[in-house]
Amino acid sequence: VSRLVLVLGDQLSPNLSALQKAEKDTDIIVMAEVADEASYVPHHPKKIAFIFAAMRKFADALRNNGWQVDYTKLDDPDNAGSITGELLRRAEQHDASGVIATEPGEWRLIEALQEMPLKLHMISDTRFIASHKEFEDWAEGRKELRMEWFYRDMRRKTGLLMDGDKPVEGKWNFDHDNRKPAPDDVDFHGPMQFTPDETVEEVLDLVEQRFGDNFGTLRPFWFATDTGQARRQLTHWIKHALPQFGDFQDAMLNDNRFLYHSIISFHINAGLLDPLEVCEQVEQAYKDGHAPINAAEGFIRQIIGWREYMRGIYFLEGPDYTSRNALKHSRTLPSFFWDADTKMNCVAKTVAQTRDEAYAHHIQRLMVTGNFALLAGIDPHEVHEWYLAVYADAYEWVEAPNVIGMSQFADGGIVGSKPYVSSGAYIDRMSDYCKHCEYKVKDKTGPEACPFNLLYWDFLIRHRERFSNNPRMGNMYRTWDRMDESRKEAVLSDARVVLKRLDLGESI
Ligand code: FAD
Repeated sequence: VSRLVLVLGDQLSPNLSALQKAEKDTDIIVMAEVADEASYVPHHPKKIAFIFAAMRKFADALRNNGWQVDYTKLDDPDNAGSITGELLRRAEQHDASGVIATEPGEWRLIEALQEMPLKLHMISDTRFIASHKEFEDWAEGRKELRMEWFYRDMRRKTGLLMDGDKPVEGKWNFDHDNRKPAPDDVDFHGPMQFTPDETVEEVLDLVEQRFGDNFGTLRPFWFATDTGQARRQLTHWIKHALPQFGDFQDAMLNDNRFLYHSIISFHINAGLLDPLEVCEQVEQAYKDGHAPINAAEGFIRQIIGWREYMRGIYFLEGPDYTSRNALKHSRTLPSFFWDADTKMNCVAKTVAQTRDEAYAHHIQRLMVTGNFALLAGIDPHEVHEWYLAVYADAYEWVEAPNVIGMSQFADGGIVGSKPYVSSGAYIDRMSDYCKHCEYKVKDKTGPEACPFNLLYWDFLIRHRERFSNNPRMGNMYRTWDRMDESRKEAVLSDARVVLKRLDLGESI
């Protein structure tokens, strides 16, 4: 008898553990584009198109390799509408004895599979460097889970940038060199772009018809949608941008959406690129003298450090993680997160870019939209759902720890030891947004003052009890305490005006 082998839209890897367990001659691969997955949040049309197109191409590659693949398209009349529904339908059709599945990256789907009335063999996702058990063992008994310590273990485990048991060039972390403000001229012209082929065009038409009203521009669509293309894009980036990646990792520019970023999270997360292979290629560029250590180390840390650490936290913390709200924030997400209609240029530009590209880089996500939502006290679950919907690389295992944890401090300090908040000064230092803004970043109070300047203090004072004893935040409170009373009053009353306008649904 045959078994079913489930391959999800973010499991498009030839070395997937479920495929390794399967028998080509007897087992049947099940892949399905289903309404449930396409609509649990209003995903960006580019994200849906990317996943469906990559799925269709991966299914073709499997067939060419001799597998039997039962593929259900979204508009197939028999489509059961959910992953479990499709598995049940296919099981009946083939009289299958059970299902082999690689563990999904989301509690929601893990639970749905477990509740299904079919024999399930769920196996670990071996595309990650640390298993759940390794992360749990690392976390056990620690008072604080700091990424840096975990990262060093991952360096030792992979041997990346190691000289025996020591880090190359004598230091584990070169982040200090990676905070340069944006240069006037960026000599990288962004990620390699691909003209949609027939498969992609067909998917684009389907997505336009079914999800055309979702937030986000579908065309022009240029993403790499198979491993071959994704590898070409990576090689192109290593050649032309990696050497500068470190220096300008935290910079932002009004007229440049990509700077020196790699734009490969979509491909790694969907399975088209293997994270370890990507890191080995970057390490090689360093060994060849093509890229400096701060670029190679900075990049490799993001992948074997942050990416793995975030996954570890998601699975360690359990299914209730996305409903945490340590700071008890409850304000509704302002409508300018959807229509970019705000005078704050940094926010307007980040949202507009998100709408057009389904992409924003790390500092835009953290220090512009994330920072604003945190300062303004927006309900973290709403913020989480926004991020999950709008970015093409967003899957819950990686998005939630970044949003609920790192960006919104809603987990009470598991991911970060202090909240990532800043006034307009940080954005001004790291970008040229403020030069193009109607607000004045230098104004600390008054009608033209940058709202980040006002809300920053309002946030700190609102949460003084929680944060004033945090050693990393003492300076902030001392600065406040030194301000004269009339200035303090003006700041807080101007902040209240901004918050009131948000509550009234007005654009600011
Ligand atoms: P680069 O800047 O070129 O970095 C290289 C790679 O490092 C990325 O491709 C990614 O695989 C990895 N990486 C870097 N930072 C992180 C991180 N904090 N967590 C996990 N991996 C990381 N990343 C996602 O993949 N999915 C998300 O849904 C997501 N949501 C985020 C939400 C917020 C609020 C924040 C602050 C960050 C989020 N990130 C998320 C992390 C990061 O912003 C993206 O991985 C990155 O911007 C992707 O662009 P890139 O490929 O050009 O990355």
